[in-house]
Amino acid sequence: SPGNSTPRPQKKAVIIGGGPVGSLAALYFSRSNWDVEVYELRSDPRRCGTQALDKKSINLAISERGLNSLKVIDPLLLEEVMKETVPMTGRCIHPGKNDFRGKGGGESQAYDIHGRFIRSADRGRLNNILLDWIERQPNVKIFFETALKRLDLDKKDAEFEKRSTKETITVHADFFLGSDGAHSQARRFLQRYTLMDYEQVYIDTLWKELEIPPEEGTGGFRIDGNHLHIWPRKDFMFIAIPSPDKTFTCTLFMPERFFDEIGDTGEGLLAFFNRHFPDVIPLIGEEKLVTDYFRNSKLPLISIKCSPYHYKDTCAIVGDAAHAMVPFYGQGMNAGFEDVRVLFEHISAHPDNLSLALSNYSTERKADAHTINDLAMRNYIEMRDNVTSRLYKFRKAAEELMYAYAPWLGVRTLYSYVSFSNVRYSEVVRRVRWQQGVLDRVVKMLTLGWTLGAAVLVRRMMGRRGWAEGGDGWS
Ligand code: FAD
Repeated sequence: SPGNSTPRPQKKAVIIGGGPVGSLAALYFSRSNWDVEVYELRSDPRRCGTQALDKKSINLAISERGLNSLKVIDPLLLEEVMKETVPMTGRCIHPGKNDFRGKGGGESQAYDIHGRFIRSADRGRLNNILLDWIERQPNVKIFFETALKRLDLDKKDAEFEKRSTKETITVHADFFLGSDGAHSQARRFLQRYTLMDYEQVYIDTLWKELEIPPEEGTGGFRIDGNHLHIWPRKDFMFIAIPSPDKTFTCTLFMPERFFDEIGDTGEGLLAFFNRHFPDVIPLIGEEKLVTDYFRNSKLPLISIKCSPYHYKDTCAIVGDAAHAMVPFYGQGMNAGFEDVRVLFEHISAHPDNLSLALSNYSTERKADAHTINDLAMRNYIEMRDNVTSRLYKFRKAAEELMYAYAPWLGVRTLYSYVSFSNVRYSEVVRRVRWQQGVLDRVVKMLTLGWTLGAAVLVRRMMGRRGWAEGGDGWS
């Protein structure tokens, strides 16, 4: 672990972006005996409340990969983060009132037959805990309200602008880490130094955040507080994630045309909710629903794939800067945390050859980040629609039964591999494809066996009744 590295001459790492991934990376670098400087565009979120939270959702799901990356650097950090999370044992599906499958109320689908669960974390609180941790390290300095303006990777210089005074600061360092999110400036500069493949997609869905408050009187959750609630409606969906303060952070994901259909009046909004999410109205309350809806902006969803993630021994990118993804697998930040752990595995393996370590990091992470990017896109369709389909439930149940009662078969659901293991994303897909191939062959053999058996039976019956001569040539 980076915490156990032997002391070597102090090198300086500059981290661009003090979001969750950059902050965790700062801790890894500081424990590896680097001098670390973190430059963050926003004000210190611990001093400015939620205003500084950026336009990001308030809650996010953290699972094994994210938690493991915290544990590897310090089990006490993991403990502190875990204390402020809410376990989510499964999805609770709320079908539509016109859905023939709908019975009203929610239907629970456990995430894992062995009882494993994911956790809901408050994004701001998580970031603040990480900032507190790095601030306590003697070799870390954090500069807020300072934006990256220029990177010269051959000279190893970065230029930042102090937002309040517009003053330019030039910083020389041995290494630069870009963790400045989906619209990364660091990545833009990296593109000038490498032959970077780059692909960016905005999906036709926007999101808007709403909130279910705690129950009046009891102060408890209004609906089951250990589930991620989903109201899938084919072309759009509404989800609710529990928070430690007993609210639910809700997200409405919809193509623009439905926002247009709602228009800009409270009546339009309530008519839409009455038609599609009637059970949500009393949970939020009419007045709050209208106020929050028209106060909060609707935001786009971007998916970015690029490669490579590094330049020589001078620069690398991690987190959303390297692979922003749509949020439908709940893996964006988890994958970003995993980037940091993997980056340090390579740095520890080649402490005297950073160039090789970064090149290996790029190669390994490209395969994995592109895979989870694609899975996240696919899960969007699943969450909107398939979670209510019989075929989806049958396939999931079959896989889970085998996972539970015949573990020697090695069958495991894709979701379980992604959320409850640290197996590389690319390897997960390879294993699941193989296992689905085997299952398909078994089903085909069973079907063939059944068909042949039925044919023999019919033939015998026909023979007994003297119909054989009139048959269609079976021998
Ligand atoms: P960011 O969080 O974007 O942080 C980047 C930081 O860099 C920011 O603090 C920014 O101010 C700073 N910065 C930007 N430009 C500059 C500059 N020029 N100079 C200096 N600093 C700069 N992930 C999950 O794992 N689970 C979930 O359930 C989940 N749900 C999500 C729901 C929604 C609706 C969305 C939109 C995303 C969700 N994600 C989820 C994804 C997750 O939010 C991101 O993957 C995660 O925030 C990435 O962290 P990051 O530190 O790489 O980037």
